Amino acid sequence: EWILSNGEIVKEQDLEISKEDRGYQFGDGIYEVIRVYEGDLFTATEHIDRFYASAEKIRITVPYTKDVFHKMLHDLVELNQIDNGQVYVQITRGAAPRNHQFPENAEPVVVGYTKSVERPVEFLENGVKALLVEDVRWLRCDIKSLNLLGNVMAKQQAYEEGYFEAILHRGDTVTEGSSSNMYGIKDGVLYTHPATNLILNGITRRVIFELCDELGIDVIETAFTKQQALEMDEFFMSSTTSEVMPVIEISGQKIADGSPGELTRKLQKAFEARIKLGVIS
Ligand code: PMP
Repeated sequence: EWILSNGEIVKEQDLEISKEDRGYQFGDGIYEVIRVYEGDLFTATEHIDRFYASAEKIRITVPYTKDVFHKMLHDLVELNQIDNGQVYVQITRGAAPRNHQFPENAEPVVVGYTKSVERPVEFLENGVKALLVEDVRWLRCDIKSLNLLGNVMAKQQAYEEGYFEAILHRGDTVTEGSSSNMYGIKDGVLYTHPATNLILNGITRRVIFELCDELGIDVIETAFTKQQALEMDEFFMSSTTSEVMPVIEISGQKIADGSPGELTRKLQKAFEARIKLGVIS
């Protein structure tokens, strides 16, 4: 198993991380997850751009060009012979004696690794259930930060109550999922929270907008309420690993008749055409 460590591809056992890495002590870093389909990094450019943008927002400079970084991720996937899977990569502000303010001499620390992952075919076919949970995260959810406690606590609550995902809401307003974006369809129009500081602008979300454009589905980027969510004709979530995932029940209430919606299915099939894989019937 090869991993990426500070610009080099090394054996996993050669990884050395400091006890004072700021990733551990402060969650002071950012990350990306990129899907691999048939050996290819899907929407790699978009993920790499977001990696650099997240880093810049917290004033970490990635120590190589995007092209070099892209090549390292590509080589890692190839060396580990990942067919269908993902790459996880993070950068932290580095290691330094523990102090909240930025250290003066720390070098950023980059770690990346791969994993084989199957597509969640059964969930994609049948849909999943989601639980409304108050969104208590900070106000910079546009940054793909390593600080994920708000997300972790929400997902755990959903999991313990038998749900696949948490639908986060600030007061009445639905923002996004604990690790996904959320969408409702009403009268043929797709609604989703605008890409503000309150959500992560998902790469899958952007692909979905392109697919809506191709399919002639109108998109309105406007926040909807918890009540409006329950009254949608169709509901789905999206992420790098969940793709276009039908949500058939929210907090114990069925959405419409409780089966994946028609436009959701169209989007799933259009998504499969993009990744050149087809299993959805
Ligand atoms: N929102 C949050 C909070 C997430 O963690 C994720 C998954 N990275 C997403 C949205 C979806 O983003 P993407 O489509 O880029 O995976």
